[in-house]
Amino acid sequence: MRRPARQRLYFAGMFASSSAFCRLAAVAGLLAAVPAAAQTKVKTKVKNASATAATPASASGGSLRYTLAMPAPQTHYFEVRMDLQGFGQEYTDLKMPVWAPGSYLVREFARHVERLKAQTAAGQPLAVEKLDKNTWRVHHAGQGTFRVDYGVYAYEISVRTSFIDADHGFALGSSIFMYPALAKNMASQVTVQPAAGWATVSTALRPAPGMQKFVYQSANYDELADSPIEVGNQKVLNFTANNTPHQMAMYGPYTLPSEPQFLADMKKITEEAQRVVGQNPLDHYLFIVHHLEAGGGGLEHLYSTTLGARPGTYGSEAGYKNFLRLVAHEYFHLWNVKRIRPVALGPFDYDHENYTHMLWVSEGQTEYMANQIAQRAGFYTAQQYYDQLATVLGGVENQPGNKFQPVAMSSFDAWIRAYRPDENSKNSEISYYDKGEMVGMVLDLMIVQATNGQKHIDDVFRLLYDKYYKGLKRGFTDQEYQDAVAEVAGRRFDDFFQTYVYGAKTLDYATALGYVGLALNSAPASPNGSLGANIANRNGHYVVTSVKRDGTAWNGGLNVNDEVLQLNGAAPTDESVKQALFATAPGAALKLQVKHGAITHELPLTLQPDPDRAYQIQPVASPTPDQQRLLAKWLGK
Ligand SMILES: [Zn+2]
Repeated sequence: MRRPARQRLYFAGMFASSSAFCRLAAVAGLLAAVPAAAQTKVKTKVKNASATAATPASASGGSLRYTLAMPAPQTHYFEVRMDLQGFGQEYTDLKMPVWAPGSYLVREFARHVERLKAQTAAGQPLAVEKLDKNTWRVHHAGQGTFRVDYGVYAYEISVRTSFIDADHGFALGSSIFMYPALAKNMASQVTVQPAAGWATVSTALRPAPGMQKFVYQSANYDELADSPIEVGNQKVLNFTANNTPHQMAMYGPYTLPSEPQFLADMKKITEEAQRVVGQNPLDHYLFIVHHLEAGGGGLEHLYSTTLGARPGTYGSEAGYKNFLRLVAHEYFHLWNVKRIRPVALGPFDYDHENYTHMLWVSEGQTEYMANQIAQRAGFYTAQQYYDQLATVLGGVENQPGNKFQPVAMSSFDAWIRAYRPDENSKNSEISYYDKGEMVGMVLDLMIVQATNGQKHIDDVFRLLYDKYYKGLKRGFTDQEYQDAVAEVAGRRFDDFFQTYVYGAKTLDYATALGYVGLALNSAPASPNGSLGANIANRNGHYVVTSVKRDGTAWNGGLNVNDEVLQLNGAAPTDESVKQALFATAPGAALKLQVKHGAITHELPLTLQPDPDRAYQIQPVASPTPDQQRLLAKWLGK
């Protein structure tokens, strides 16, 4: 997935930093090495792919049908009916997932389930027992055919949760449909009954045989859970990419400068994405686009994706191209994570966290490839692409947590950290998106250099697709990923992975960029001092919302939630706070009076220099022919 409006700047609150980039001479090897953090052991078990492949005898020859109704959408309820046939045992356990694949947080979808009841085919009530937070046991002794009904409250707007109101419904299978615990691989049928006045259903599920309207089939629960259903009166656009039909279900208001141009651009970016692996696993694909004021982000699925966009997204060139980059990211997930995947990410355990060190590949390299694809498709010039990379690089290197948390652990702890940020997150964590993108860039450059321009990172994706997805039909371990890189590059990068992925040492960007004739320049982000804190104006109260590790505020004793009562002897104003945060010379004295809980403190501070640096990636003055040749390969020319 991609999260909405990722903030790359540390001080992204009410006072925007005005750090203009100062062009300096190239600084080689400018990043001091930091001690490598404790190395993470690489141990990933290979799950037995066949363990869940068998349908239990109890359900063989049986059938499973769902009906999804929404009789009162304004109340935010989906009504689900399950008709089960051929379940011959004493009881059947039904489960609701605790998480949605692609979004690594236990969300406890069972908490929105209510009014669950079961009955025989003749309408006799059956006993239902709740076994744990997400499991219901239906006692149907001897009755192989029975029915279960329940309601699901769905009123959280995001790409990873279900939602329904008077305007439209969005049903994400993992938070709507339960599955029989012992028959997860059973095929099923879904009948959608749209609310009154709604005429359109958009889903990547295939129509069931029989030509009945709004009746779909899925091969197993994974497919059902991973094929969201959009219901309403959305506009549907169509385009073809590499002879494969693609649909766009466009919910909500939006304005396109030119619909034909937009569809041509969608074709261009999806075809460019297909070129990376060179094999197309699709026979159809669906984009569900929600146009909402709070729009943003996306979540990948097996044959579809859900994207959020603001109604005005397409009005500016930057917004339009950012949308295409989001498209490239989610679309590339078709391969990377949906098919090319770490062992932990399928078959899914819907009951628990699915731990992996590899989200820096699944997410970080997806973001890396999305930007590559957008550049290769011609939506950005090479220099614009370098600028994007330099911005991400700066975000990573200016974040204190980057020096402590290896990106492999950022991935592993996604479940307890990435989706649960707090005021101290940036002091102790690094994003597996941004750092993963940077590792992907350096790794790609190293492969290009090691093979003298014969191979690049695309070849790693191709190898993983052929060997693990198509051949072994399973995910890869951490070690197998490193083996794949070695096979493509013709030499091993074990030290690289240990140092920069399982350790937190600063990547050697300058050397890697140098292979293709690019230089990394950096300069202080600001000539001024820095308080190292974010202060927000909350109804006239100036409250500290974050404190940056090792900065002036951190060292001087300013705390999150402290209220600034006086600044240099006067009541603070927007202007004086802005001045103190961003426009005072280093070494200057700053006198704060702050309220910390019930106690008032006087804090005399001396402003430290702003530690942040601004980065730029630029071609060297006279690249050698070899560098030019490797550059062309790296840019996918
Ligand atoms: Zn993603």
